[in-house]
Amino acid sequence: MIDSEIDNLKGFMPKHEGIALTKWSEKFSSIGPIMEIGSYCGKSAIYLSKGAILNDQLVYTIDHHFGSEEHQIKEEYFDSEIFDYKNQRVNTLPLLIKNINKMQVKNIVPIVSNSVDIASKWNAKLGMVFIDGGHSFKAANNDYVSWSTKIKKNGALVIHDIFENPDEGGQAPFEIFQKALKNNFEVYERVDTLACLIKN
Ligand code: SAH
Ligand code: MG
Repeated sequence: MIDSEIDNLKGFMPKHEGIALTKWSEKFSSIGPIMEIGSYCGKSAIYLSKGAILNDQLVYTIDHHFGSEEHQIKEEYFDSEIFDYKNQRVNTLPLLIKNINKMQVKNIVPIVSNSVDIASKWNAKLGMVFIDGGHSFKAANNDYVSWSTKIKKNGALVIHDIFENPDEGGQAPFEIFQKALKNNFEVYERVDTLACLIKN
């Protein structure tokens, strides 16, 4: 699987950040499985799977597949290719499955549900959690609170779409990033809007 093939898939993960995801997932999947919040059509999950497979490790990816606020009809990131006109809803699940099959990935486990509902029932400790779900303050904070506690010591928390400058993007991911730094996380590496934090 080559990075330019992954880069052609629909999604919100630029190639330079995707390559960082692969590198970090290789490192931290040696500690435990990977959990992604926000599968969308699988682009970032496939970058993660490429690193995790080297440790024979799984990538769980959660999404209710109804899309975030910005993906809804008439919103900024609406995409008719993932809109189910019959049922009048966004549905990214068919394209997620199609992309997993197209890339012949064997270690992605899609979970179709709300991230917080799954967290309340999830007991296994994780090597890395990647938060890329809803970008409202409430959604991002819920994901941080419910999933950061499930990371093993020396495991990683990765957060996408961090913009220090409010003119460049929403502030919710930056807020949870700062919150993590005040708790027991420290920066391992930063690539553009992606931050990888280690749990102490
Ligand atoms: N990681 C993807 C992009 C994710 S977009 C990529 O790189 O291409 C954010 C996704 O989070 C959307 O598909 C949306 O449906 C999902 N999402 C938002 N809030 C959620 C929640 N509470 N539970 C599960 N999924 C959620
Ligand atoms: Mg994102």
